[in-house]
Parts: sequence; structure tokens; C-alpha cells
Amino acid sequence: MPRVHLVTTGGTIASRVDPQTGAAVPAVRAEELVAGVPALGRVAEIAVTELCLESSWNLGPDRIAEVARAARALQADPEVTGVVVTHGTDTLEETAFGLDLLLDGDTPVVLTGAMRDASTAGADGPRNLVSAAQVAVAPAARGLGVLVAMNDEIHAARWVMKTHTTALGTFASPGAGPVGAVDGEGVRVFARPARTPRLPLASPEPRVYLVKMASGMDDLLLRALLDARARGVVIEGSGAGNVCGSWEGAIAALVQAGIPVVLSSRCPGGRVTPTYGAPGGGRRLEGLGVIAAGALSGPKARLGLMFALGAGLDAAGLRAYFDRFAG
Ligand code: ASP
Repeated sequence: MPRVHLVTTGGTIASRVDPQTGAAVPAVRAEELVAGVPALGRVAEIAVTELCLESSWNLGPDRIAEVARAARALQADPEVTGVVVTHGTDTLEETAFGLDLLLDGDTPVVLTGAMRDASTAGADGPRNLVSAAQVAVAPAARGLGVLVAMNDEIHAARWVMKTHTTALGTFASPGAGPVGAVDGEGVRVFARPARTPRLPLASPEPRVYLVKMASGMDDLLLRALLDARARGVVIEGSGAGNVCGSWEGAIAALVQAGIPVVLSSRCPGGRVTPTYGAPGGGRRLEGLGVIAAGALSGPKARLGLMFALGAGLDAAGLRAYFDRFAG
């Protein structure tokens, strides 16, 4: 039998409704999670590591680094066929991308979770857990980088995002699509994206902030980040990467103060391009020294900047690194 090592972190897949409050809270320990899905035993031998039992919005980049260290050791273990990480869906895409930045082994690392807690009729956790284990032991999944298996779809960490607050099919890869699927016949992989450019597994720089552009918003937040000596700023601009023209002064001041400014788009799909020359347009931001994040979402660009700064990359190194996402 192949061997899957399950690393659990909490989330809805490990939650139950608390009868006192009526609210779902993480409560299902790793052993119980496995015991509750007998079909797992038909896919692989399962070993477990309970890393934590948290809602994902309370995890952070330090926890991502901790999961990466555990996953890296498991990838180096010849007894381990594949790794499954269970995780809350709210920030699952960030942990998946963070792991994709930090891991370079070929052993599959597959994240999954659930949109319905264990005490809800039609809970999707068991099915997602079995699918993730099937992907983790599938030869076709080797060397694909970190994957997300949810609702019988397989997505690449770099593109996947949670697109709906409650739908079972919430995970999608806008502008790219899934790289595979799980069906009654097993695992199908139909796309093999390039691996995410790797970064050293260093402690992430915590003082990196994300600012989302909205119509007519003034530059108060950017000025505050400059005054606070933030270590990095990611901006989610509109469209192909444009911001309110009134932001140009604050952006120029951040760059001149040696604070890297990385530009993403608030659009779910596509990449930023330096197309427009009106105040705040992408071509003008390029001229101010802003670093383009390609098709990375704001939260993923922020993780890339946190781990890149943590690894000691300088301004030139940051630009060269993010240029590799331009494709
Ligand atoms: N709603 C989330 C989930 O589906 C909860 C979390 O992210 O921890 O897992």
C-alpha cells in the first residue's frame, strides 16, 4: 500500500457546531478525522501529524513556514508516497502558495478542506479527504508542485483562489482553470504548469502590508505605511494594474525610502501590464520603480515579498524574482 502522511491544521473540515453557541469551531482531532473516513484506508496507509487545530484566518506566514518544514522532511522520506495537508478554506490558497514557494521536492503535497463542517448534512470533508489522498499517491501528480484538491477538482497553488463564501465549488483558478480532476476512475492530470520559482525557507518578514485600490480612495494608508517604516507594500490595483493618480506621490516616496512596492491586480484573472499612461496608470507606476507581480493575487504577492525579504533579497533580487511570474 502507498503511504500518505496527513498534516492537519484545523478549519471547517475539523469543525463541529458548539451546542452552547450554535457556532462551528475546530474540534476534531487528527486521529478522529481519519477514523471518520474508513475509505481512506482503501487508498493508502495513513500516518498523521496534528500541527494545530485552528481556523485558518488565525494562521499566518510563520505557520506556513512550520508546515513547509514538516512537508519538506516528509518529501525527503522514501517511505512517504504523498503528503495531504488539511486546512481551513479561508486562507487555504495562501498556505498552498506559500508552500509552493518553499518546497521543491517531487513528492505530491496536496491541500484540502471542507465548506461544510462535520456536523452538517452533506459534509464535503470526507470526500475531499479521500480525493486529496488519491491525488497524493497518483504518479501523475509527482513534480507538479503544491496542489489543492477540492470538490473533485485539482488546482495549482499559484492560480487557485476561494471565489465564493459558501459554495462547495468555491475553489477556482480564474484565467487558468484546474490542472486535473478526480472521478470514479481515479485521478486525471491534464495540465502541467511550470514550477513556482523557489525561495529559501527562511522566516518571513512580518511587516509587509496589502492595500487594495478602490475608486477615489486617497493615499492615507500608503502615507501611514511610509511613516511606520513598513518593510514592504503590495498594492492590488484596478484592471491591468492602475491606481488613483493621487497615489503617485506616496508610491514614489515609498520606493525612494527603500520600501519595495509590488503591484498586483484586484481582478481574479490575468496579469498586470504597464499599458496606461494617465496619472496612476501602470506605465507611470513602472516608471516610479513599482515591481509587477504578474498574475499573482495580492495576498500571494504579499507572501512572495515576505519570504523574499526574509531570505535577504535586495531590490534587484526582488525585481528579478517577481519577473519570473510575468508569464
Ligand atoms: N470557513 C473556513 C473553512 O471552510 C474556516 C477556516 O478557514 O478555518 O474551513
